[in-house]
Amino acid sequence: MRLDNKHAEIAGVAYDLIFADCPTDLGANLGALNYDQAEITINISIPEDRQRQVMLHELLHAADVVTSDQDSERLTENQTWRITTQLFAILQNNPHLVSWLFPKQVM
Ligand SMILES: [Zn+2]
Repeated sequence: MRLDNKHAEIAGVAYDLIFADCPTDLGANLGALNYDQAEITINISIPEDRQRQVMLHELLHAADVVTSDQDSERLTENQTWRITTQLFAILQNNPHLVSWLFPKQVM
């Protein structure tokens, strides 16, 4: 399934969601958050299900940045991945709960 709206609002900031094949600024990463440019880039050379996990991971990074007063308060990469994989699985395995949480959304 293709993502038609390639924007995400995170704490009042409109992020551009960029899907790119082997973007040079990603290096070996699967995705990247550029907070200053309000951009999230996802590497499309990985499987689509993995792209969704990476998107959630980058969204969590963005939320972490805006809710941390100092760099030292931010989640580590490992902490962010642990939350990402578990939250992704919870949402994926409980669509009834997602519908209840977001009743106005078309799922
Ligand atoms: Zn990360």
